[in-house]
Amino acid sequence: MKKITVAKGDGIGPEIMDATLKIMMAAGAQLEIEEIKIGEKVYLAGNSSGIDQQAWQSIRNNKILLKAPITTPQGGGYKSLNVSIRKTLGLYANVRPCKSMFPYVSTKHPEMDLVIIRENEEDLYGGIEHQQTDEVVQCLKLISRPGCEQIIRYAFEYAKQYGRKKVTCFTKDNIMKQTDGLFHRVFNEIAQEYADIENQHLIVDIGAAKLANSPELFDVVVMPNLYGDILSDVAAEIAGSVGLAGSANIGATCAMFEAIHGSAPDIAGKNIANPSGLIQGAILMLNHIGQNEVAEKIQNAWLATIEEGIHTFDIYKAGFSTQKTGTAEFANAVIERLGKKPKLLPSVSYAKGITLKIPPYQRKLPAQKILVGIDAFVDFPDIEPNDLAIRLQKLNSAALELIMITNRGTKVWPNGFDETFCTDHWRCRFYAKASQSVQKSDILQLLQAAAEQGIDFIKMENLYTFNGIRGFSLGQGE
Ligand code: NAD
Repeated sequence: MKKITVAKGDGIGPEIMDATLKIMMAAGAQLEIEEIKIGEKVYLAGNSSGIDQQAWQSIRNNKILLKAPITTPQGGGYKSLNVSIRKTLGLYANVRPCKSMFPYVSTKHPEMDLVIIRENEEDLYGGIEHQQTDEVVQCLKLISRPGCEQIIRYAFEYAKQYGRKKVTCFTKDNIMKQTDGLFHRVFNEIAQEYADIENQHLIVDIGAAKLANSPELFDVVVMPNLYGDILSDVAAEIAGSVGLAGSANIGATCAMFEAIHGSAPDIAGKNIANPSGLIQGAILMLNHIGQNEVAEKIQNAWLATIEEGIHTFDIYKAGFSTQKTGTAEFANAVIERLGKKPKLLPSVSYAKGITLKIPPYQRKLPAQKILVGIDAFVDFPDIEPNDLAIRLQKLNSAALELIMITNRGTKVWPNGFDETFCTDHWRCRFYAKASQSVQKSDILQLLQAAAEQGIDFIKMENLYTFNGIRGFSLGQGE
């Protein structure tokens, strides 16, 4: 018997959760349910994160959360509950299988059967944003080696355990050589440990185009958070409907399972919502906790129900579907077919006891980190790059000298082009003079001089080499 935490959520949440729980119990799932209240009512009671301490404690005790969609109230100040749960509990892997059920669910891609594995905690989702000048705002994109190793290892281990043949990685490392570059490098390193699994890397733009046009070319696809967020919805939609997909959010100790759609307030309380997305989330959960036989039984009964044309309104097609059914009746139809296999769609077989074990991150020996300069970001409206350079060169010292100014990443000094549009936000690179090493005190001295000369510096970024390798990008045109 496994104790799990269940949140029935808002809108259609209670209806689709009741349907899902009824199917699981009828299939013989060994579950003890502990229910928590999260979402709209908790937000409106004044808790800006939509979840209280008692609910957190239940999830941390049971380690498994099956969650129906929740409604985020309109208006500012409410934090995303999903993001809070993922980040607070370290749920680093978002797993979303997207499989076509052609011809029973319309899709242009009858052969599609892929799994998107999205990094769930890092990238631009740290939400570290600042306005720096009148005209410029920034969002910090953070990618860590442990974050990359965990998610990429998870993708290969998933492929190995579920008998998948290929893992594809999408990044934009032709542009973001440090952040996406690290993700790609770690992908290449870990791929070496899985000689039996084909590996492939594509730049995300062409990768996304191929995914949308020929999804049958892909098997497991692993990517950083933002690309994964967007492309996992694209993949679910072209497989048939976002309404049919479930997802798993996996961490080292806890995991959360859900449908990918929202709380659909427009159809709440009418017993017409399709519970399939949450049923798929529950199947992922049962596999995760080792109740694979029950998962297999439900999946095959669900496939049999779908292929017999028993459809909720969202996928119902007159002349093709045989019965338009409500939420509770759809659950009963699945229950009636427990123990049966689909006749036309391929049935599934989940190997007994698949649980993915990802070894904890092993910190490497620290590299030799040498300070070689500084990027000083300054706010200057209405100034020509050459005039700015003249002002900044006054800050040159025995250790540091101005070598480059860029505007939005493009070099404008020395030898800039008049055509380059400049906003009020300048990155000014001061680099170590030949054979000099830079000390923190040299930087403090430079900043002191900048302050005295009225230079409006808004941010500093130290430039380092790591074991002699440059740890920063060059300016475009440098
Ligand atoms: P939504 O997914 O709730 O609805 C989009 C459309 O799809 C609606 O027309 C809806 O009726 C339909 N739909 C969704 N699920 C369905 C189902 N199971 N069966 C049949 N039709 C279904 O997206 P939205 O309207 O953008 O968001 C509504 C609320 O849900 C918002 O408060 C949003 O913040 C929240 N939301 C929550 C989650 C989550 O908890 N994981 C995810 C997305 C959105």
